[in-house]
Amino acid sequence: MPDTPSVLIIGAGPAGLSMACALADAGIASTVLDGASEAELADPGEDGREIALTHRGIAILQALQAWPDLPSEAISPLRQARVFNGTAPQSLHFGSGNADRLGALVPNHWLRRIAWQGAQRRPLIQLRPGTRVDDLGLGPQAARLLLPGGETLCTPLLIAADSRFSASRRRAGIGAEMRDFGRSVLLCRVEHERPHQDQALECFHHGHTMAWLPLGGYSPTLSSLVLTLPTDQAHEQRAWSDRHWLGWVQEHSQDRFGRLRLAGPRHHYPLVATYAHRFVARRFALIGDSAVGMHPVTAHGYNFGLYGIETLAALLTGSIDPGDPELLARYAATHRRATWPIYQGTNALVKLFTDERPPARLLRQGVIAVADSLPPLKALITAQLTGQLPSPFSAR
Ligand SMILES: Cc1cc2nc3c(=O)[nH]c(=O)nc-3n(C[C@H](O)[C@H](O)[C@H](O)COP(=O)(O)OP(=O)(O)OC[C@H]3O[C@@H](n4cnc5c(N)ncnc54)[C@H](O)[C@@H]3O)c2cc1C
Repeated sequence: MPDTPSVLIIGAGPAGLSMACALADAGIASTVLDGASEAELADPGEDGREIALTHRGIAILQALQAWPDLPSEAISPLRQARVFNGTAPQSLHFGSGNADRLGALVPNHWLRRIAWQGAQRRPLIQLRPGTRVDDLGLGPQAARLLLPGGETLCTPLLIAADSRFSASRRRAGIGAEMRDFGRSVLLCRVEHERPHQDQALECFHHGHTMAWLPLGGYSPTLSSLVLTLPTDQAHEQRAWSDRHWLGWVQEHSQDRFGRLRLAGPRHHYPLVATYAHRFVARRFALIGDSAVGMHPVTAHGYNFGLYGIETLAALLTGSIDPGDPELLARYAATHRRATWPIYQGTNALVKLFTDERPPARLLRQGVIAVADSLPPLKALITAQLTGQLPSPFSAR
């Protein structure tokens, strides 16, 4: 390792590793610590998540030279999206068959793998798998990590990327807004008779939401089904046999795709959104889900992680002291501006579209009709959702 003081990063998930790569490209050395073993980090298992990436998210992965590490089948184009309210035929439609993509879907385990590979390639990054961090201290000149074996590490800047339930965040004295939606998602790849045409569907039914994410990189007739249910019902459905569950899905799919066949295991995630009260403290910064843990319906979690990485790396480039409070304050302000409106908007959308009372049902039908008939509004929503609004650092 070079003599320059190393930034320490807790968490070798996609955010922590991509942060290390962005810092290395700016000439800043870092050490990334994670409680998981090297085997788990280098070769993560399939976890059911298909991550919708915005144009800006993709551009950041390209700048990190991570994008070319993806096999072509792992990149599924997302050309159109339709939002339905219950069984009403009218939908809110984004994108068109001829236009450029809205974004792309990539399996989460692939995003984790390419982040690991990128870190392996950069000599300025030291990886310490199998190292759980349990204690930290934040001082005016340095942050300190106390590792379980008694080893102490010091750094001018400690970055936490240890998930939405970040223990480091709590130890740094930073609270977080937590919204438990009382709902869970069941995810499963499904083969279907009729092609998806690279179109995502989000169908808000009474009692559950069914989203279909097209996996055209693999097959024109393969989608990821994302079923959102009250958590008690999700647990009940997890216990059903594949055959019984497929029957339920087929019955509730409104025959959008013809006959269905399960093409993988089912995965389960409880839905809890989190937003840190502050993104920085003395010699400490939060990135990834430990800063903002999104409800997946607007597909922004990892995109926000990448935006934060781009912002922080740009601010630290050429800095004499990476823990400079003024730089950290600028990161916090920029990342908050980029995330807070969509975090709040996403939670409001979830509330409106899961409210079963008749006035809410009427209101969402009205929202769909109005938004669909106002092209400027739709264009603005599309630009916001696909990350095509200008980046705060694009002019630098
Ligand atoms: C169902 C679902 C669908 C999603 N869909 C999308 C989407 O379409 N688009 C999108 O942009 N995002 C989406 N997301 C969000 C996306 O998956 C996350 O934003 C992203 O994976 C978070 O990465 P991370 O590196 O911040 O955290 P994580 O992946 O949670 O990694 C945290 C790491 O920290 C380590 N760690 C934790 N505690 C410690 C400790 N004390 N010491 C050492 N290491 C520690 C863990 O071992 C882990 O490796 C979705 C999420 C879900 C659940």
